[in-house]
Parts: sequence; C-alpha cells; structure tokens
Amino acid sequence: MFSDIEIARSVKMKNIADVASDYGIAEDDLEMYGKYKAKLSEEFLKSRKGIKSGKLVLVTAINPTPAGEGKTTTLVGLGQAFKKMGKKAVTALREPSLGPCFGIKGGAAGGGLSQVVPMDELNLHFTGDFHAVTSANNLLAAMLDNHIQQGNALSIDTNAIIHKRCIDMNDRVLRNIVVGIGGKTDGVVREDHFVISVASEIMAILCLADDMDDLKERLSNIIVAYNFKGEPVFARDIKAVGAMAALLKDAIKPNIVQTLEHSLALVHGGPFANIAHGCNSVRATKIAMSMGDIALTEAGFGADLGAEKFFDIKCRKAGIAPDCVVLVATVRALKYNGGVAKDELSKENLEALKKGIVNLEKHIENIKLFGVPVVVTLNHFVTDSKAEIDFIREFCESRKCEFAVSKVWEEGGKGGVELAKKILYTLENKESHFTPLYPDDMSIEDKLYTIATKIYGAKNVTYSPAAKKAIDRAKALGFGNLPVCVAKNQYSLSDDQNKLGRPENFDINVREAYINAGAGFVVAVTGSIMTMPGLPKVPAAEAVDVDENGNIVGLF
Ligand code: ADP
Ligand code: MG
Repeated sequence: MFSDIEIARSVKMKNIADVASDYGIAEDDLEMYGKYKAKLSEEFLKSRKGIKSGKLVLVTAINPTPAGEGKTTTLVGLGQAFKKMGKKAVTALREPSLGPCFGIKGGAAGGGLSQVVPMDELNLHFTGDFHAVTSANNLLAAMLDNHIQQGNALSIDTNAIIHKRCIDMNDRVLRNIVVGIGGKTDGVVREDHFVISVASEIMAILCLADDMDDLKERLSNIIVAYNFKGEPVFARDIKAVGAMAALLKDAIKPNIVQTLEHSLALVHGGPFANIAHGCNSVRATKIAMSMGDIALTEAGFGADLGAEKFFDIKCRKAGIAPDCVVLVATVRALKYNGGVAKDELSKENLEALKKGIVNLEKHIENIKLFGVPVVVTLNHFVTDSKAEIDFIREFCESRKCEFAVSKVWEEGGKGGVELAKKILYTLENKESHFTPLYPDDMSIEDKLYTIATKIYGAKNVTYSPAAKKAIDRAKALGFGNLPVCVAKNQYSLSDDQNKLGRPENFDINVREAYINAGAGFVVAVTGSIMTMPGLPKVPAAEAVDVDENGNIVGLF
C-alpha cells in the first residue's frame, strides 16, 4: 500500500495553464506560482461576477473519528468522477493548516487516488495565503500594543482586549501568555493569547469577502478591544486597515490546482469548522458555480458544525443556495459512534454498527430541516465487510434516502461514478427548498437554542456569567441580528466529546462569546473546546523529512 504522498508523487501533473484552459480559463487570467499552482486574476474574477450557472453540491459528513472520514477525499474523487462522465464540474475546497498536518490528522489534500496536487506544497506553504492572514492579524496586534505604549489616546482598557495574536501551528503554550515584560521600552505588560490562524477573524473575513472593497470594510469593522467606557475600539481606529489589506491583496485571489486526474480544483481559505465557520472562500465557491455545470464544495467536520455553518453563515451571507448535500459516512466512524475503541475499528462489528448508526440518522434528519435533498455515501475502506455495507445501504434505502458506495480512495474517479450518478439523479429530480435554520431577527439566545435543540438534539443551553454578559453587550451594541458561529468539539453532537452516537438529555454550555463584527457573526464557545489546539504525544511531524533527492516524505 502506497502512502498519499507516494501516490501523489507518482502521477505526472499537467501544467496548470493547460488544466485551466480545459475549463475556459485563458493563460492571461492566471497568475502563476510555478508550473502547477496559480491564482485567478482580479480581472477574471470581475468578469465572472454575478454568473451563477452551476448547481451547488455540498459534501459533509457524520461525526468523525480523529483520523477524518474522507470528505475531502470524496469531494476530490467526485470532481474526478464527473470529469470521467464528461460533466463540467469544478471543485472548491479549503487550504490545509499546518496544525493538523503536523498533529494527529495529517494533511488535507484528499487521499489515495483522489487527491489534489502538488500535495506536499499544498499541505505546507502553498501560495502563502495563510502566512498573509497570520501577518495581517499580527500586524493589527502589534499596532494595537504600540498604540497603548505610545500614550493610549483611545483609552484602551488592557483588561478588555479582544484581538488575539495567531500562528498556524498547534502550540498549546501560546494559549495564555504575558506580553510586554521587561523595561519601559518593552511595551505595556498584559495577559495575551494566541489562536491558531484558521480560527482568526481575518481568516473568516478572507473567506466571506466578495472583493477588495468588501474585505477592507470588514477589516475596518473588527472589534479589537473596548475602552474604559466599555465602548468598542475598531481596527479602523488603530489605522491598520490599509496595511492589512495590502498584506492580503494576493491572498484574496482563489488558487487553482489539479486533481490526480487533471480536473480543476479551487483551493482557497481554510477556517476550521469546530472553532470557526469551516468553509472555503465565498469567492472560490461563486467562481466554481460560474464555471461549471456543477460546483462541488465541502464544509469541515460533521454536518452539525460544518454544514450548519455553511447554511446559516456562508449561504446566508453570500446569497447562494445548495441544490444537494452529500453526506459521507464510514463504517469505522459509525462503529466509533457505537462505542468501539480507535484501534479496534477495522474488525467487523455489526452490533456496534447498529448502535452507532443513530448518528447517521440524526444527520440525515438535520439536513432535511434545511430543505436540501441528501445523498448518503459510504466512503469504502478495504476493511469494510459485505454485511456492514449491506446494513448501511438497507438503513438508508428504508428511509428513502439516496445511497451509493464510493470507492474513490481506492479507484479514483472511476470509484465515484455510482455516487456521481445518484447526485445527478437528485439534481434532476428532487427540488431543493433551502432555508436557513433561523431568521436574522431572532435573538442570539434563541438562535443558539434553535441550533442546540434542533441540530445537536440538546435539551437546553446554559451560559457562564461571562458569556451572558458578552451576549448582552453584543445585543446592546446592535449586533443581535448576526448569525451565530458555535465553537464545539467535532466528535459529539453535544459539547462533550465522549457522548457519541445520538446523545439525549444534555445541555450545551456556552463558556464564552465574542463578536466577530468584521466577519459578521457572534462566536459562542461551548464545552471545553480550545481556539489553539495542542500536539499529541507523537505528532505527525516526527515522521516528516526531506530525502536525499530533495523530496518531502512522511506527509499523509
Ligand atoms: P476529511 O476531509 O473528512 O477530514 P480526508 O478526506 O482528509 O477526511 O481523509 C482523512 C484521511 O483518511 C486521509 O489521510 C485519507 O487518505 C484517509 N482516507 C480517506 N478515505 C479513505 C479510505 N476509503 N480508505 C483508506 N483511507 C482513507
Ligand atoms: Mg477535509
């Protein structure tokens, strides 16, 4: 068995300009980053504005195991499958973060014979977008601390600073730090915090902005702190907006790469779905919709996080509506939800599967709440037994749910044709009546109650005093009409990662809340979820190296 990086390296890539030309993009519309990566030019993006010809398909999943359930693999495989079938389908996905890449999960460029390439570059520095996000974020932080040092004309309360520094790394020691120690010239001492870059508001803004004007407007609206009177201080007050925009000038242009079968993939932006809104950029999705008959995109982690935010934040803000949802399930994640330990997941276990399938059932019901037709796909692992596959198929068919086994990991596009046909059938025969879960004018607490009870299956929502205060302040400042972005662990429908399957009789505990006024949502942090992850005992980074030929090895 070859590793993802070995497979990726074994396939000869085409020049990206040739791949683009198959989709009607001229070489002039590209800004090349070497032979295999390019950005779409602003002129090209402008020329496509407002065109929405293609159907929109979202790939999401049940609650995952820590290894990931193959959403990206399925998404990439589907792009390849549609190409094989002569359909013009364009894939849009997120850029990988170094956190998971060097942590537990590994890279995020798909897997097996369904990958986007160049895999190593994608997973590491790619076209520098994350560096740009990190730099813009930290420039704002530096200017904020400098403002305080230089006399604090804005009367910023150093105990009420909201904006945090960021780095694209799992580094738990940066969660809570002290800055400014030393002498008088070393800055004002205060407690500070880092978040991982993919949880920063700048990343969310990059992914929601329509163009440079919109990006600047959103950057200017970031609340960085409160003053001694309790009034918000914005990024525009710090006079950081122009320089941040300059750092993000290229980062807001979507990137294109190819799949192993030379279909086109847009890869742009990468907020996590557990601690941020979890979707690739609106610009990339809109461009994909303007270019093909079908635009395929994904949202991170399970449908309780990624899909809910895709619907209630991204679609609401961007004015787009999905036509079909592909819900990825795996035998191993269903068994995990049925209580099987991580290292026992490859053994047949029908009892655990029957116990865990309630998780799939809940996600099917949830997607129906949004009025979008759903196709369930089983991402096939070689260890899956026939009895296990048959059980899941019967479960779906008895619920009148379209179902297909996907073998894109083992077979590439060919292994996704059955699923692609089910999607086409759904697009042609089942109408989508997409509606977000809650209206804008519902109170923040009611929005949270609606998400918690309807999507997670909770009984109630409780608030820490700090969260309650923050929500009251958001309402008083006029941000009560924003959608809510819940930060929650990805393993459970509840805020406790040990409650697997379809938990009942639980409360969702909101620990903290803050306004992302630039991105345009209120974040509610639940349970014990962290916006700066840590590394595991044996980080994936330990296996990564450069071999004697200068090739990167050990990425997966
Ligand atoms: P997600 O996007 O849902 O987080 P990925 O598509 O990134 O998941 O897949 C996670 C990991 O699992 C990748 O390393 C990928 O190679 C592997 N993987 C995905 N599907 C399969 C499969 N059917 N068989 C074996 N490994 C798989
Ligand atoms: Mg993924």
